[in-house]
Amino acid sequence: MLAGRMMDFPLTVTHLLERARSYFPDTEIVSRRPDKSLVRHTYAEMHGRACQLANALTRLGVRKGARVATLSWNHVAHLEAYLAVPAMGAVVHTLNLRLHPNEITYIARHAEDEVVIVDHSLLPLFAKVRDGVPSIRHVIVVPDAGPAPEGSGHDYEALLAGERPEHDFPRLDENAAAMICYTSGTTGNPKGVVYSHRSTVLHTLVACMRDTIGVGEDDVVLPVVPMFHAAAWGLPYSAVATGAKLVFPGPHLDPASLLDLMAREKVTLAAGVPTIWIGILAALDAAPGTHDLSSMRTMIIGGSAAPASMIEGFQKRHGLEVTHAWGMTETNPLGTVARVKRSVAGRDEAQRLSARASQGYAVTFVEKRHVDDTGKVLPRDGETMGELEVRGPWVAASYYGDEGHDRWTSDGWFKTGDVVTIDADGYMRITDRSKDVIKSGGEWISSVALENALMAHPSVLEAAVFAARHPRWDERPLAAIVLKPGKTATNAELDAHLAGAFAKIWLPDDYLFVEQIPRTSTGKFLKSKLREQYGDHLMK
Ligand code: ADP
Repeated sequence: MLAGRMMDFPLTVTHLLERARSYFPDTEIVSRRPDKSLVRHTYAEMHGRACQLANALTRLGVRKGARVATLSWNHVAHLEAYLAVPAMGAVVHTLNLRLHPNEITYIARHAEDEVVIVDHSLLPLFAKVRDGVPSIRHVIVVPDAGPAPEGSGHDYEALLAGERPEHDFPRLDENAAAMICYTSGTTGNPKGVVYSHRSTVLHTLVACMRDTIGVGEDDVVLPVVPMFHAAAWGLPYSAVATGAKLVFPGPHLDPASLLDLMAREKVTLAAGVPTIWIGILAALDAAPGTHDLSSMRTMIIGGSAAPASMIEGFQKRHGLEVTHAWGMTETNPLGTVARVKRSVAGRDEAQRLSARASQGYAVTFVEKRHVDDTGKVLPRDGETMGELEVRGPWVAASYYGDEGHDRWTSDGWFKTGDVVTIDADGYMRITDRSKDVIKSGGEWISSVALENALMAHPSVLEAAVFAARHPRWDERPLAAIVLKPGKTATNAELDAHLAGAFAKIWLPDDYLFVEQIPRTSTGKFLKSKLREQYGDHLMK
């Protein structure tokens, strides 16, 4: 072999931080506080503050590899931890503030967090966690809702004020850990996924490609997806890498607050789970033209399936483009994006919409296939369902600790637990998570397909379809429905709405009209709760 003769230059987060100061010192980072006021920092200021944080953490004895946790909303201090902690060789661990305190305690213990950076507004939650995590040596309180109370820990701003705004970051091995994110643990205990500098940087570069998410210097990026959920889909790093302006919503994730922020800060690119966008679309439909969204270029939607009716509704009624993407905590998280390829662009509108509402094809350097129960690779015919497997440089190779080995195949693929079809153009459609598939008689019924169709009904705001036990068929679909304000629908109407598109045996046995569908910690429909509540509904 003839070896290449190029520099061995490590792919590290440090470079992104330093570059942001060099070229985009005046670009703004806007953060919304709990009292709704906005604070502004420039990239130059953020760089100085990240250096101060690194100096402070060094003084507190944080060494390479040590875990520094965050329990925070999206804001500038969280970004500083995202950058300073990995750049100094330590590991930032984002704790999910929507989990039960017992789960947060389990996760913080498992990761052996030494320092926790916590928002003042989240101290009541943290109080239920702290005593259960003996590894915690220091607590730093971000004064988002007033200075750190006596005895709660170091005040973040006071701590930074005592430090120099410069830090000589070490040269790191690109394979060193940069961040730990835990899966939500809907099956078994949460598992830690350890992103390396290399995986983070490669993920950032590909995320910034035009056909992926396509972040550029002239973008104004609003990560609605929390920074404790799969690195906010890498958007903070993509923005820093390109010098895009960042807008952080803090704790205000309701449609009115987000629309106000999008219009006020001239946001071009926003990202979040479908439940957020369902609310935003309903608000826009109720009062069209109230907000000037003319700057918006695209909304990235992922985390669960974006219904075609929503994608179409944004586009047709409000001229807003949606980019649908799929990923997981285990994939850093971007895996696929639903772009309309040249070969699909010339087809009719329904086919183009179907491509955009699919989960798309794999981004550069992620490989995907789907397999049957025996591991046999299935055909890309758009019909055969199988479990999705992926591999690539930002796909987890194992979990932190000695757990979950059964998620990897012997030939090096990660088993996602998602049931999909893949068509001849490579577009993947998620029909279910394997634990949500409805097994009725011998037939597999896709809850996702039914939900998407139901959410296209003019009276339906949200729909979640789940398996209920059935004396004859083992399982049958039930649909939990939230109606739009002032609207009505009957079982017969909803049946009629579905009948054209689905075989009779796919139609839900009943519709439950509810006020609210329970959500997971990351804003997805919590079907296990629905199964728990209504699982025996058909047994009477
Ligand atoms: P969790 O949902 O367990 O909190 P993740 O955020 O890692 O944690 O979720 C990953 C899962 O979310 C995927 O395995 C898939 O089931 C689902 N998912 C992600 N994006 C999409 C999408 N665009 N459409 C449908 N399902 C999605």
